[in-house]
Amino acid sequence: MGLAGLGWPQTASAEVLRIGRPLCHAVSRTVAADLGALPTFVCSGEPQGYQKGTLWLHAMLPPGADERDDLSLIVHSSRFDRLVVMFSYADGAVERQDVRSGDFGTHWRAGGQLAFRAPHRDVPLTGVTMRFDKVASAHLLRMRLVGRGEESTQTTGLATSIGAALVLLLAGAIYNASLAVAMRRQFSAWQAAWATCMIVWGACWSQLHLFFFPGMAGAISAQICTGLSCLAISLATLSAVTALEPHCVSRWLRRTALGLTGGVFALGIPLSLMRSGPIDKLGGVLGILVLANLVAVAFCIGQAWRRGSGEARSFAGAWAVPMLVLASTSFFDADAMFWGGGSQILVLFAAAWQTLWLSVAASRSHARLRVERDMARQAEAQAQELARRDALTGLPNRRGFVERVGTVLETSQGKGEVVALLLIDVDWFKSINDVYGHEAGDVVLAAIARCIAPYESSSCTVARLGGEEFAMLVAGLAGFELVRYADTLRQQIGGCEHGDVIGHRKVTVSIGIAETASAADFRALYRLADEALYEAKRGGRDQVAIRLLDAADPAADDLDQITLGN
Ligand code: GH3
Ligand code: MG
Ligand code: MG
Repeated sequence: MGLAGLGWPQTASAEVLRIGRPLCHAVSRTVAADLGALPTFVCSGEPQGYQKGTLWLHAMLPPGADERDDLSLIVHSSRFDRLVVMFSYADGAVERQDVRSGDFGTHWRAGGQLAFRAPHRDVPLTGVTMRFDKVASAHLLRMRLVGRGEESTQTTGLATSIGAALVLLLAGAIYNASLAVAMRRQFSAWQAAWATCMIVWGACWSQLHLFFFPGMAGAISAQICTGLSCLAISLATLSAVTALEPHCVSRWLRRTALGLTGGVFALGIPLSLMRSGPIDKLGGVLGILVLANLVAVAFCIGQAWRRGSGEARSFAGAWAVPMLVLASTSFFDADAMFWGGGSQILVLFAAAWQTLWLSVAASRSHARLRVERDMARQAEAQAQELARRDALTGLPNRRGFVERVGTVLETSQGKGEVVALLLIDVDWFKSINDVYGHEAGDVVLAAIARCIAPYESSSCTVARLGGEEFAMLVAGLAGFELVRYADTLRQQIGGCEHGDVIGHRKVTVSIGIAETASAADFRALYRLADEALYEAKRGGRDQVAIRLLDAADPAADDLDQITLGN
């Protein structure tokens, strides 16, 4: 319900009560006696000397003001020792309600407000008088008269929106704190501290904390809020300055921002402890320092952006809204807006916006980093794989083979299985190169590799060790069976057609086998297989020779000198 329509003559906006518009005032220099006579009110000028005594405010109500709905007086201030509200009626009766610092009873409302409902009587309400004992600043007092129904709607709406902003801030604080721990980012830690500070500030300013701590009602909470708001500005500045890459912001600009934030903190903390004195003047100086601080941070962000900082872009979007809000509330009066939530509710939502924006920006850069990290890991895995493969044939190279063989040897010997190393060397390969050229030699090597590759299985590992030498590690075959297996391989390679590069020339291989049933390392096996290969070569090439590593094996005598082939 708007009272402006009721034709109240003293003020343009009848809903808002301010000193002089239409409130008249009086001052008692010491705290007035409880049931003393009302002082004489004056309706012009500013009240002086009330901080240690009592400030009286009085407004006559226009006839019929309480006709549409019962009236509630809403007071937006809590920096006083005691407030008594007196509703006067046409029959001379006066209804009193009072609150004190530490005990707001049922009068506190979300949004930092106190509500006093004028009791309904059959005679009209004629005036409202307030006496504030030891109020910090008359200048900061705001009062409104609203209908009772409207008061409920407004306080519910305010409680809901403040609750929503606090939840958003809480989510941002938790997210940034976990980022700070997981990614060891200093700036996320400042951001989390800032969001936490804003949550405590929001809970204190809106008085929602009185649900849990009713004894904190009044001046103590207001003082905590002043201290917290200065701390919040310092934390936000630290978060912005530490997030920007050092080479993107000049040192003096960074120092100016940090110096100003130090000034805000240094002035804000004593101001929050003051109960009387030059609060208005110091508040003005603090306001200028805060603005200068914000401008310095804006310059830091701007300079970092110009110098190509990635973080500056995220910060510009995040800081733009809170800066505009703080700057604009310094220039125009937003106190009566948003159902009396005023500039504080704007600041709270701007803070929630900033935290959310930065959380989204952090998530995006985190996601980008993860993609880059995954790609780097993939590239590294590919490089590792390539380093273990032979480029010409696609078979594992010596390095890849030695690594695989290590594990095969361990598992086979763990199971007591026989293993054998086959060294396969192309005969007279140099002459193929000499006669048909090196490229033709490559084609022959690739064809032989294609011939061997299908042997790769869980019990057989295939590789090209280098040059025209291939190798196989075979598990589970021994003795004559193994020699036959190798001989089949020899014949298969020998039967390979290489017609288009070397005509009808037949390419043969010699195979040296080293067999073992006991623990052996690759080097010992290789040495023995090489000896067997040398023997196959010496025996005329295109044949298989076998050597047993285990001298004690009874089969050794029969097998040791076996060669198969042409
Ligand atoms: P042996 O029967 O005694 O093994 O005679 P060989 O000619 O096969 O043996 P030798 O060791 O004398 O020659 C091997 C040749 O293989 C020499 C080298 O030029 C050639 N070679 C090594 N690596 C490659 C390769 O990648 N491509 C081609 N085309 N030739 C290669
Ligand atoms: Mg060779
Ligand atoms: Mg050879």
